Amino acid sequence: MIELFSGLRGKLLANHPLAPYTWLKVGGPAKLFFEPADLDDLKHFLSQRPADLRIFYMGLGSNLLIDDSGFNGVVIRLGKTFSFINSLDDTLFEVGAFTVGVLIAKYTHEHSLTGCEFFSHLPGSLGGAIKMNAGCFGQETKDIIESVTVLNPDGSVRVLSNTDCQFVYRNSAITNDILVLSAVLKCSYGDMQEIKRMMNEQTAKRNASQPVTAKTAGSFFKNPSEGAAAMFIDQCGLKGYTIGGAQVSLKHANFFENVGDASATDFLKLRDHVQQCVKEKFNIDLIPEVKYIK
Ligand SMILES: Cc1cc2nc3c(=O)[nH]c(=O)nc-3n(C[C@H](O)[C@H](O)[C@H](O)COP(=O)(O)OP(=O)(O)OC[C@H]3O[C@@H](n4cnc5c(N)ncnc54)[C@H](O)[C@@H]3O)c2cc1C
Repeated sequence: MIELFSGLRGKLLANHPLAPYTWLKVGGPAKLFFEPADLDDLKHFLSQRPADLRIFYMGLGSNLLIDDSGFNGVVIRLGKTFSFINSLDDTLFEVGAFTVGVLIAKYTHEHSLTGCEFFSHLPGSLGGAIKMNAGCFGQETKDIIESVTVLNPDGSVRVLSNTDCQFVYRNSAITNDILVLSAVLKCSYGDMQEIKRMMNEQTAKRNASQPVTAKTAGSFFKNPSEGAAAMFIDQCGLKGYTIGGAQVSLKHANFFENVGDASATDFLKLRDHVQQCVKEKFNIDLIPEVKYIK
């Protein structure tokens, strides 16, 4: 398959393991794995791609469950060329899609800007946060997005407004075949010490209530309209419930941990069991927030 491509400057690998790129550390290999050198390199790759070769755009793997059989297509992971922050004016700045959340929070703190404190708790990239409309502590990605630059499957680039992105709770109009390249973020002025105080307070709350150092993918399920998913799972007595190496966290019932040598199948079985218990006890259908890739 690699021989179909020529003139690439990035890294193209066949049968490449994906587990090390994910926070859960499970899953099989990608048929092809490509890290483009830059946007031109990516467009060149896409122009040579056979129409039947599926694409998956991976960020920092903090919200992913990859199947044990891996992904029978090409996984494209943006590299450091796509990690940057450029100031546009006092409150407006452009951020590359592969920039990790903590760097965005650091930048805004240093510039006395408020609205991005939550990024200091997200282990993912801006691209993943936009796709998922990630958020916590009352802040969401949608609140600070001015515009988003994306790459279409045909290789064309277009700019989406905040409204175009159709942000909703943990989702957006960024479909799986669209790649976020960068975004313009807008914050408002705040007090530098207050911003720091807020981030520290949130970090303390997180450390007390979530397994932040364990191998997880964050919240496994979205919160249903009836309340917090964690509360329903906890009330089913499932904290600590384990299948193979996958366990419902003892610290937070909506986090699933890889406590040993878990397989993706262990996590899928645990997902099904938890869904079934919550359905039987509360008649609530829990919808996964974690993206399952096969
Ligand atoms: C310990 C922990 C805590 C977390 N806490 C929270 C939290 O409080 N709130 C919250 O909302 N989430 C949380 N998460 C989940 C996760 O961090 C966010 O959803 C994150 O923003 C995903 O970014 P990523 O780069 O890791 O994306 P990935 O996990 O790699 O991918 C997630 C989805 O985004 C897509 N994607 C990634 N990059 C791009 C791109 N450039 N263009 C288009 N699509 C892209 C992928 O195709 C996939 O569909 C947590 C995760 C962990 C491990």
